[in-house]
This record gives sequence, structure tokens and C-alpha cells, in this order.
Amino acid sequence: MDFARAHVEGKIGITVRGAAKPFALDASQLSVNSVSVNGRPARFALDGKRAKLKILGVPPRESLVEIDYSKQVSDDVIFGLYKSKYAKDYILATDLEPAEARTVFPCVDEPAYKAVFRLKVTTENGLGAIANTPIVGKESAGGGRTTYTFQETPRMSTYLLFFAIGRFEEVKVATDGIDVIAATRPGQSQNSRIALEITAQSLSEYQRYFGVPYPLKKLHIVALPEYHTGAMENWGAISSRESYALVTEDASFTQRNRGATSMVHEVAHQWFGDLVTMKWWDDLWLNESFATFMSYKMTDRLRPDWEMWGIFFRDEGFHALNLDALSTTHPVHGHVRDVAESMHTFDQISYGKGACVLRMLEAYVGEEAFRKGVSDYLKRFSFSNASGKDLWDALGRASGLSVSRVAREWLTKPGYPVVRVAARGGSIELGQSRFTLSGERAPGVWPIPISLRADGGEMSAFLDRRRMRVKARADGELLLNLDRTGFYTTLYDGAGYERLADNFSRIGPHDRAGIMYDLYLFLQAGLVRPGLYARFVALCGANPDPMTTQIVTEQLMRLTAIANESSVIKDVEPEFYPPLLRAFGEEPRPGEPPYMGATREYLTSQYASVDDSYARKMASRFERFADLDANLKSAAAIGYAMTDGPRAEKRLQDMARTLQGEVDRANIYEGLCAFKEPDLVGHTLELGMSGQVSRSDSGYPLILSAFNPYARDALWDWITKRYDAMREMYAGSQQFYLYMIGAIPMCGVGREAEVRAFLSGRRARDGGSSVTRILELLHINSRMRKRLLKGKN
Ligand SMILES: [Zn+2]
Repeated sequence: MDFARAHVEGKIGITVRGAAKPFALDASQLSVNSVSVNGRPARFALDGKRAKLKILGVPPRESLVEIDYSKQVSDDVIFGLYKSKYAKDYILATDLEPAEARTVFPCVDEPAYKAVFRLKVTTENGLGAIANTPIVGKESAGGGRTTYTFQETPRMSTYLLFFAIGRFEEVKVATDGIDVIAATRPGQSQNSRIALEITAQSLSEYQRYFGVPYPLKKLHIVALPEYHTGAMENWGAISSRESYALVTEDASFTQRNRGATSMVHEVAHQWFGDLVTMKWWDDLWLNESFATFMSYKMTDRLRPDWEMWGIFFRDEGFHALNLDALSTTHPVHGHVRDVAESMHTFDQISYGKGACVLRMLEAYVGEEAFRKGVSDYLKRFSFSNASGKDLWDALGRASGLSVSRVAREWLTKPGYPVVRVAARGGSIELGQSRFTLSGERAPGVWPIPISLRADGGEMSAFLDRRRMRVKARADGELLLNLDRTGFYTTLYDGAGYERLADNFSRIGPHDRAGIMYDLYLFLQAGLVRPGLYARFVALCGANPDPMTTQIVTEQLMRLTAIANESSVIKDVEPEFYPPLLRAFGEEPRPGEPPYMGATREYLTSQYASVDDSYARKMASRFERFADLDANLKSAAAIGYAMTDGPRAEKRLQDMARTLQGEVDRANIYEGLCAFKEPDLVGHTLELGMSGQVSRSDSGYPLILSAFNPYARDALWDWITKRYDAMREMYAGSQQFYLYMIGAIPMCGVGREAEVRAFLSGRRARDGGSSVTRILELLHINSRMRKRLLKGKN
């Protein structure tokens, strides 16, 4: 590796048994110089279009194929093998999921083809090298170069291979005899303490929970200054964006929580994904939903005062319910023909819905049977591959219940049900049908474990047909889906909502949150009047509860973004924000639980966005930005931008360019995207791609300005100009589409035809199901805007 020129001269030897004819490896964006088979030169052809390296004369008996190749690392990508830049330096690092390994070395780049890797890296003296396993040899290679030899890996899939070369600073802790090491760019290692601590704790806790030891000698967290997603579970060497790995006590609770949870997620993958890998990308959800579910379960265990299940609803449950109610959704376990298609499955269906279904299954079989089933599954398929069915079978054996049937129905069918419930006389009537935001009728009956409380008594029912009746009185109280373990929505009749309103102060926080996000979904689908939704928002204002406050604030933020002129929204704001701000206070209170900070952050920053006098109040705090309580920083930045406009711009932009920590910059972008002047937001969007700020930041302007109702035109304008360039920078990775799914349905409101025309042809083909999703979400938002502008009815 010529680090200074970012040039690779690579040599790879692959032992092949039972070679197919013709024999081909996956290879792309590489130049192949020579190939030999069993020491003899062999003929080869590189098919650039199909990304295959065909090699002639590979016999079916065991043989050694050796390939000399080279690669020039591009300056423009942040995916595959890339330059993660900072100051005037960079780290060369890999990020290979799902199919970038073939751009780094010729290989069979499919998860089921596991191999043992023996990696050697030769590079300039004075640089550090990190890979999946520890360094076992370091010797001079002459000419001012050093060769590092890494311990051979266990059998693993190509997408999990990792290496990075650069100038690193490391800190280390040990847990259960395993070194847990944070590697950062120089000057940053002291900021890795929070990530390091939770990584080590979860590593040791998972060993106990799974009953399967972590098979490697060390685990790195590599903080990369430029990173295109959140983090990646490379076996033994988790890579991460800096805002997750370098988050300190000065960060807001939400930032600390996100960083810690994402480490716990990647540590879960060390078993679930790395030790046992899905056979093919159609079971990607198995990796992701499991790691997502476990990250909440484990963080909850390690940080019981963080209210992780409330955060689960806010960040996973709601988004999954929203996306899975599109008519263009896909089953959690879908058909994935090729790698290009697999990319579009890295979404909230795979992560969030899958996690919700696992939570529902755990509630169904019980915690201990669930743990035992998972443990058996991991033991049985270690260093190998498995499919979803293997997990259900294991859970079924451990619990004695028919898990397969329930799991199959939930995971192979798209969408989820709405349960309609009404109390009549001495019985409760339950009915189910598929819920869609479009209101289109769609078939589907699910086996639903239902929990309910009626007139003080709790009971359960199993609804596996269209309709059923449960004998129980519900004159004063009726509530379904207790503690929100079921992945379905509940639609009450008029009398039902009256009862819920009367009882609201007595309903627990998770159930309240559930009622609020069901109502929000029904509002989008046109199943409830805007006035009913607003009535419950006001009830939330009158009944302070931190988690529901965050969830409803986020809903209001979305509604404001697409229909800020609506009187329904305007009228309810005074009943929501001021009483809650009074209840929770604007300054931290001694001894309060940490997630109160997040509630304050949600409330203050959103209220500053919609109320000019509150924005001015927050703006006055910006002067002492560095010393502000972290949870108030984004509100201060928003207030400052909204109040001072052009005068605030230069200062905020300078801060985005010069602040070292991504965590701090994230708050500054909140301000930079909150201007009421559209052209100023336009400058912010340009800044994200200008090369003057870290490419890790390129998503902030897009996502944040999507929530600014004054920025709709500016954002859409920018997207039409920069869509293709940005897609290229992300090398077509799913992260690009996740940003677009966040942004276009918001700023495209009011110009559906134009958006449709823009996302046609090649953009539609490349964007696949992501583009269909964008268009459907846009349609739903446009319809909801019209409805909200009409008023309460
Ligand atoms: Zn993951």
C-alpha cells in the first residue's frame, strides 16, 4: 500500500476446491496484472460490466489461484476502500457491506462463501494498521516500509473484512481477557471513553446472555472522521462515524444515547451476523432486526435509567409502522435477486419492523425461552450460515410453542393489521384488516397475540381470523396492545376514544405513546379527523410525560414541515409547548433522569422553530453556546438563526467549518437549516457538499432542512441540481436513498408532478423501490397537507 499516493499493489492467493467451469471471481474497479494457477501463468479476462474476473484452466481438484492486481483509491467516494479525510491528512479505511469487497480484492463476494483470511499489509514507516485480528508480526520491508502480519481470522464472510491505515491514537481496556480498543485520529482518543466503556460492558454481558464466547482476542472501535452511514460491525473492528464513537459528557442525551446504542448494536452483530451469518441478503433483516432489538434490550440492562423502550418506540416502532403501511412496502423477509436489490432492503422495515416482531415474539415465548433459543441457534451455526427458519425452529424447540407459524406470517407478508375494537353489551368485538396509509383495501389476516385491559382486568386473546368476540365488560375502560408489544395499530370507535380521553391521565407512558402514534397514522390515512388528533395532543400537553412528549413533538415537527399554515396545528401549539416547558423546565434539574434532557431538547428546539418570541429568547442564549447545557444547544442555534438571519449565517458557517467535534457541528447544522430565508438554507446545503466540511456532515443539511417549512423550495431546488453528484459520492450506497426518502416527501409537497418527472427514467431504475417509496410518501404528505389546511373536520 502506497499510502501517500493511496495506491494499492495487491496480491491474493485463494485455495479453490471443486472449481466451477468456467471459473470466475467477483472483481470490480481493480486492474488485474497477472494470474497464476498452481504456480503456472493462467489466462484471464476482466469483465468490467458484470464485475467478474474469469480465469481459465482452474482444475476441479484443490488448486491455488494467485492474482496480482492494483487499485487506485478514488478521491471522490466514501465507501469501499476510501480516504476518510481530516485536517490535511486521511485514514485509508474499508467499508464493504454489502458488496464492496470485490472492489478491494478479487473474491467470491457473497455472504455464504466464508473464508479464513491471512492479511499482510506493507506500507510506509510511521503509520499504524488495524484489521479484524491482532497484529502478530511487524518487520521492515526495506525502502522505508513496514510489513504488518495479522493473525488469521476465523471463517468469515468477505463483507466483514476490515483494514485501516493511518495515524492512530489508541486507548485500551480489557474485559474477560479481551482487549477492547478505541482507535481515533490524533488528539481524539480521550473522547472515546463513553463508547469504549459501553462496548466493553456489552461485550461481556453478551457472552453471558448468548452463552457463546466472543471468538476473537480483541475488539476495536475505529472512529473515522468521514463516514457515510452510522457504524459497521466488521468482525473484531467496528468502524464508526465520530459522532457515535467520540461522544462525551458534553453531548446531549440523545447524542450520547445514539452513540452508545449504536456500539451495543454492532457488538451484538459480532455474534449475530459475524459468527452466524445469513445465507443470502434476503435474510439481512435477521442480522439487522436482531442487532436492533438486542441493542435496546442490552442497553436497557446496562443503563436502566435511560428509558430505552420509550426510545425504541420513538426511533424504531413508529418509523417501521409508518413505512410498512405504504402499499409499496416489502415483507421483512423478501425476495432479493441480486446485490443491487439488497441495498434497498437496508431500511426501517429490516431494522425496525423486524425488531418489533422479535420483541413481540419474545413477549409471546417468554424471555428465558427466547434467550435459550437464540443461544442454541448461535451454537449450532457458529462460523457458518443460517436462515430465518433456523432461528424460529430454535425458538420453537426452546419454548414448545409454534413460533414458526407466527413468525412466518409476520415476516413473509408485507404490512401489518389495524385491529378495530368496540365494546358492546358484555363483549368486546375485535376485527382485523391490513392497514395502509393510502386507504387502499389490501388482503391479509395475521395471527395476533392480543393483550387488553377492560374495566380493570387484564386478559389476552389470539386473533387469527377476521373477527372475534371476547366476553368482557368494558364500560369504563378499554385498552389494547398493553405496553405496546404488538406490531399492529388499534382503531377504537367514537365511544372508545371518549373513554381513552377520560382515562388519559391514568394510562401508562408506553400505552399513551402507542395511542398517539396510532392516531398520527390514522390521521395520515384519513381514518380520524384532524380535530380528534389535536384533542389528544392537547391531552398530552395537560399530562406531562417525557417519552410521549418527545414522540408527539416529533409528530408536530413533521406536520409543521408540510402544513405550517394549518389552523389545526397553530391552535394546538399553545396547549402543548408552554405547559410542558413549564412542567419540565428549561434548565436541568438536579437528580432528574437522563432522558429528561432529551425531552427538553425536543421541546425547546421545536418550540423555537414555530414561535418567534421563543426563538428570540433562545437566540439570547447563543452567546454562551460553548457553556450551554448540551440539551439546549440546538434550540439556541435554531433561535439564533431564526432571529438574526443573515447576520447569524457567517458565524454559524465558520463554526461548521472549524469545530473539531462532529457532535458539536450537528447542533450548528440545526441552526444552519432553520433560517426563514430560503437562500440561506440553500447556502447550507451547498456547504455540506463543498469539501470545506467533513463529508460525514453531508446528510445533516438535507435531513434537517426537510423539517423547515420555509426551506421547501430551496431544498427541492438544491436536490434537482445535486442529486446525481451526491449519489455518485455515496457510490450508490443505500445511505443516499435514506437521505432522499427523508427529504423529498417533505419538500416535494405541492409539486408532485414535478418530482415524479424528475425521478423517472434512469433515476427511477437506479433508485428501485426507494424511489417508489419516496413517491408514495410524497403523495400521502400532499393529501394530509390538504386535509390539515381544511381544518378540524
Ligand atoms: Zn446492523
